[in-house]
Amino acid sequence: MPELPEMENYKNLLKEKIGSQVITDVQINREKSININSDLFKSTVQYQKIVDIKKRGKHLLFQLQNEQNLLLHLMLGGWMFFGTEAEKPNRTIQVRLSFGQEHLYFIGLRLGYLHLYNLNQTVEKLSDLGPEPINSDFTVNEFLKRIGTKHGRLKTTLLDQAFISGIGNCYSAEICFHAGILPSKDIDDIDDENRRKLYNSMQYILQDGIKYGGYMDNPLFKGDTLTGGFNDRCQVYDREGQACNRCGATIVIETISSRKTYYCPNCQK
Ligand SMILES: [Zn+2]
Repeated sequence: MPELPEMENYKNLLKEKIGSQVITDVQINREKSININSDLFKSTVQYQKIVDIKKRGKHLLFQLQNEQNLLLHLMLGGWMFFGTEAEKPNRTIQVRLSFGQEHLYFIGLRLGYLHLYNLNQTVEKLSDLGPEPINSDFTVNEFLKRIGTKHGRLKTTLLDQAFISGIGNCYSAEICFHAGILPSKDIDDIDDENRRKLYNSMQYILQDGIKYGGYMDNPLFKGDTLTGGFNDRCQVYDREGQACNRCGATIVIETISSRKTYYCPNCQK
């Protein structure tokens, strides 16, 4: 499932492509991917300019000129492609937003969605999300304060979107590896020094994820060489049975709270 860096990457690239552009047409192929009647959806969205694109947690927010918002969550298996009809991947398209001859295709939206909300509804929908970990106001002291109220396994806490928003299975594994801490470790057993390490690793790994375009398998547009670059930088995620790049030990997979968890049993304590 796309996490903070993947959505940040999409945001940055889409701003260049469709920022200030007018949505010339709307095609709904799967009604379940939207939240209102498709005729109303279309009449509200068509001919609107994209005023801004924002990221909150694992969501993208397309802000329209009429103060309505398209709230996107890709969930598991969702992705996007931007380009002409000729360039589009040979996949089922759930929703298509057109910008003249180019289109933004929403693909693999089964659990994912593109919902239309006004400002108040949007605020309410996002109200349960915790702080954005890479925002400048999320300081180490703020992190220490928040983690000080938490108990239980580190991994479960990192995935808790009300604690910090945007971190999922991949980046939680990479953050724990970078900090040298086992994801199964109980938060009560992590001392102040290691909590600070965790904060620093979180900053480093998430920024690295953004810098290298996240881990999505598919490019956003033809010639997009940025998206997916983080795949090759993963140290533990999806690497079970392979040698640790740091110490040579075998990367292990374990299930924590029914989520696959990857770590190096030697580098992480
Ligand atoms: Zn190792």
